[in-house]
Amino acid sequence: MTVDVETGSRILLSPPDVGELEQEYVMRAMRSGWVAPAGPDLDAFEADVADRVAVAHAVGLASGTAALHLALVSWGVGLGDVVPVSTFTFAATVNAIRYVGAEPFFVDCDETGNMSPELLQRAVDQLRAAGRSVPAIVPVDMLGKCVDYAAIGEIATGAGARLLCDAAESFGATYRGRAAGSFGDASVVSFNGNKMMTTSGGGMLLTDDAALAQHVRKLSTQAREPVPHYEHTEIGYNYRLSNILAALGRAQLVRLDDMLKRRRAWRERYRALFADQPGVSILGGADDAGDNCWLTAIVVDPAVSAWSADELSAALDRVNVETRPVWKPMHLQPVSKGLHGVLDGTSERIFERGLTLPAGSVLSDGEFKRIERAILGVTAA
Ligand SMILES: *Cc1c(COP(=O)(O)O)cnc(C)c1O
Repeated sequence: MTVDVETGSRILLSPPDVGELEQEYVMRAMRSGWVAPAGPDLDAFEADVADRVAVAHAVGLASGTAALHLALVSWGVGLGDVVPVSTFTFAATVNAIRYVGAEPFFVDCDETGNMSPELLQRAVDQLRAAGRSVPAIVPVDMLGKCVDYAAIGEIATGAGARLLCDAAESFGATYRGRAAGSFGDASVVSFNGNKMMTTSGGGMLLTDDAALAQHVRKLSTQAREPVPHYEHTEIGYNYRLSNILAALGRAQLVRLDDMLKRRRAWRERYRALFADQPGVSILGGADDAGDNCWLTAIVVDPAVSAWSADELSAALDRVNVETRPVWKPMHLQPVSKGLHGVLDGTSERIFERGLTLPAGSVLSDGEFKRIERAILGVTAA
């Protein structure tokens, strides 16, 4: 491949950050003979993550989506139930609710991009008045910023609903000193290739509820009963994380704090770059002390700023830098036709004005300078 000196190779939003340590851990797992979705690396990875997040139980699964799905299955959420969920999220959150036959009920965000407690309360009141059963609520830690868990947790408790926290994007973040992944009745994290840390593909269910962890572990391995022959009393899934991938995860966990530092450094440089730009803000707000800074997105008000998010995106693309719109709200997706929610236009506005910028922990200083120059070419014009 030839690389243009001006534009270099393409800078991606959040590519996997793996190197020698990961190779070493994976090779060791392969040589150990534990190639199946069981083994000492899987056990150790679960224990290390549970320890890091300070929860009693962690169940390694094939993806974050599988973790969302199995929590709902285990709680018996299904047909006839309605589940309030953030509309401003990746499709996986909502898909899991639909896998079990329940009805997602979309709740809009506030300016941080996270589920608005005020709108959630309204949603719960509305559903209650209609006589609907609300067994669970699913908020999402947008781009690595924790939801207002104090407010959301109180509403869930008042509604008698379980809280399933989608922390797929917030591994390594904190809220009031507590780790993302430790909130609600259960939390879900993702180790997909583009996330804060990766097992190439994978996820976990995190909870203090021993019975839930045990049931999800059983469901994830085809719900086999503990007898010598294959005996099944309920429908199972093939959702367990492989031991080899868990080994990759263990190496990533060793490097997590360093990777968090690097992403935060990019966040700070973006903040400085846009500080004097009227009408431009960093999604999530000024207080990002607890965020993991997985991705940095800006929100551009075209009535105030001299340029638009689209213009900036085009300028970055010209120097071979990937950008992306923020998540398209799920209530706007064709697949959500016929579904309802409590919506006030905030996520739609952020979607129209937002732009996600590269923030990977593999990004080099030289690459960031290329991004910086292109941004200044637009903002200082
Ligand atoms: C990535 C992501 C998921 C899904 O995780 P996978 O491991 O890719 O299945 C779920 N919810 C949110 C908000 C995500 O960003």
